[in-house]
Amino acid sequence: MSVFRADVLTLFPEMFPGSLGLSLAGEALKQGTWSLHAHDIRDHGLGRHRAVDDTPAGGGAGMVIRADVLAHAIDAVVQPNDSRPRLLMSPRGKPLTQEMVRTWAKGDGIVIICGRFEGVDERVIEGRNLQEISIGDYILSGGEPAALVLLDACVRLLPGVMGKTESGEDESFENGLLEYPHYTRPREWEGREIPEILLSGDHGKIAKWRREESEWITRERRPDLLKK
Ligand code: SAH
Repeated sequence: MSVFRADVLTLFPEMFPGSLGLSLAGEALKQGTWSLHAHDIRDHGLGRHRAVDDTPAGGGAGMVIRADVLAHAIDAVVQPNDSRPRLLMSPRGKPLTQEMVRTWAKGDGIVIICGRFEGVDERVIEGRNLQEISIGDYILSGGEPAALVLLDACVRLLPGVMGKTESGEDESFENGLLEYPHYTRPREWEGREIPEILLSGDHGKIAKWRREESEWITRERRPDLLKK
């Protein structure tokens, strides 16, 4: 299988690899488990000032990234036979889920486009078949931190990136539930004890307790997850 390849189109390529150059993702990057290529959209800008944006049609505040410039930048990176998903980070997009991340992590890689200003011209979304993805109901100043979030979530699932393969399967969302609480030494801290059952050595009882805690905490905090 080929290496998971991420191409990111951005006005701030210096923001990459950023946090992905450290820890698990950084090690995996150095070892060639995945590759990251940040491309400057401005390389395709127009005129002496390499303009990438213009004022919104119909008026209003802010600037919009031009369709022609962005399409040119995309076409320089994505060949016609490239089957990787083309994702546009956008607060209007489908909310990012662990399920999407799992699907993408099994593929050949992803292409991510980071917006800035008011966003991008709608026509390039249609014309280049971009899939809009949101990382939550709030507004960032640019798509770069969202791209780092999305890539972090994918890369940790690549074979060999996480220490133990199991440590991916027990996590929040992987089974539709939030995770049970964790404890470690010391056994007593500021008068608080580790729940007795976790020290019992009875793996059946421990698994049952964890399952119940997961269900309880999900019902309490995220009842929407139980409906799915
Ligand atoms: N005017 C837009 C917001 C633009 S924010 C609107 O109201 O929908 C500028 C850029 O930041 C966006 O183009 C997008 O790439 C990125 N961005 C902002 N919030 C985001 C979010 N919640 N998820 C993913 N990307 C986001």
